[in-house]
Amino acid sequence: MIDLLLGMVSKNKTSNSRHSFGRLAGLVGLVANLLLFSVKLLAGLLSSSVAIIADAFNNLSDAGSSIVTLVGLRMASTPPDKEHPFGHGRMEYVTAVVIAIMILFAGFELAKSSIGEILNPAEKAFGLISVIILIASIVIKLWLALFYKNIGNRIHSAALWAAATDSRNDVICTSVVLASTVFGWLTEISVDGYAGTFVAVFIMWSGFSVLRDTISPLLGQAPEQDLVCDIKETVLAHDGIIGIHDLIVHSYGPGNRIISLHAEVSSSEDMMRSHDLIDRIEREIMGKYNAVACIHMDPVDTDDERVKALRLFVEEVLAAIDQSLTLHDFRVVFGETHTNLIFDVVVPFHYKKTKDLCEEVQRRVWDTDPQLFTVATIENSYT
Ligand SMILES: [Zn+2]
Ligand SMILES: [Zn+2]
Repeated sequence: MIDLLLGMVSKNKTSNSRHSFGRLAGLVGLVANLLLFSVKLLAGLLSSSVAIIADAFNNLSDAGSSIVTLVGLRMASTPPDKEHPFGHGRMEYVTAVVIAIMILFAGFELAKSSIGEILNPAEKAFGLISVIILIASIVIKLWLALFYKNIGNRIHSAALWAAATDSRNDVICTSVVLASTVFGWLTEISVDGYAGTFVAVFIMWSGFSVLRDTISPLLGQAPEQDLVCDIKETVLAHDGIIGIHDLIVHSYGPGNRIISLHAEVSSSEDMMRSHDLIDRIEREIMGKYNAVACIHMDPVDTDDERVKALRLFVEEVLAAIDQSLTLHDFRVVFGETHTNLIFDVVVPFHYKKTKDLCEEVQRRVWDTDPQLFTVATIENSYT
């Protein structure tokens, strides 16, 4: 079934790419939800049931999500240009925010009319056709849930798995409306306003979750830990790289990243050779993560025993203050009367005493050797 539909939407019959699958999911979702919206709106208006009308708008909001998927795919395939050298991937989030606000607004309006219905029930015209439409809607949504899950599994798309969950929730939503309609018909007691309120709250909740999920990547969020570990492993797999730090992953929309990091190399190694190695790793990262990569080279003195001992000493001082503190870019400037220790300290965001940390480190170092001066730069981790 999916292969048949795929053949219809994709111009290239043999193309089974992520793009074609995403387009298929978006188009099927859009058509199915617009269809459900129009028949339910009609049924709701004819039987003057706010619950059915609210359920119709719930489907309209899903049509909106399908539009986000399609716009996102279109934008992601729009190449970077002079004004937007980082591409147009974030347009997907902007579209999602606009649609989320529309969903919230629709939910609010429906909640108002549902509460109005509770206070002031309208005369109901029961129609068997409404019941049939609601049952058909449940069946279609069950099928959509399976359809999204199937495609989501094929292309590993979190967005499609979310769409599958949403379709399953819609089944619950429509079942409540169906139950309320049948209940009203059998008992002639109208619970229509209550069912409508339930659906309206459900719509507002889904609008809120879309907003929450899209604001975060727009603000710029920490990269997934799997990706961070994977990048570290990739870089450290090369002989000649002693360590890495200051890794930053910047995302300009799905599949469009900028990765920068500091790689530590031995200061006794030839600079041209080290730079050559760094360039090769940059290219490997670009290919592997479809990203722009920039690697800064940090020489580390691995031969001088005095430097090694001092580094170990400062690491112990930091560990004594807090186990979560780490240091990098450690350098030593030896002098006649005093010696400068220069380094960066990474503190976790939850660390409270950042302000006094420099003084604290200096105080503890002086306890051991008054000739050692510390020049510490405090920073947070970007991962
Ligand atoms: Zn560095
Ligand atoms: Zn270079």
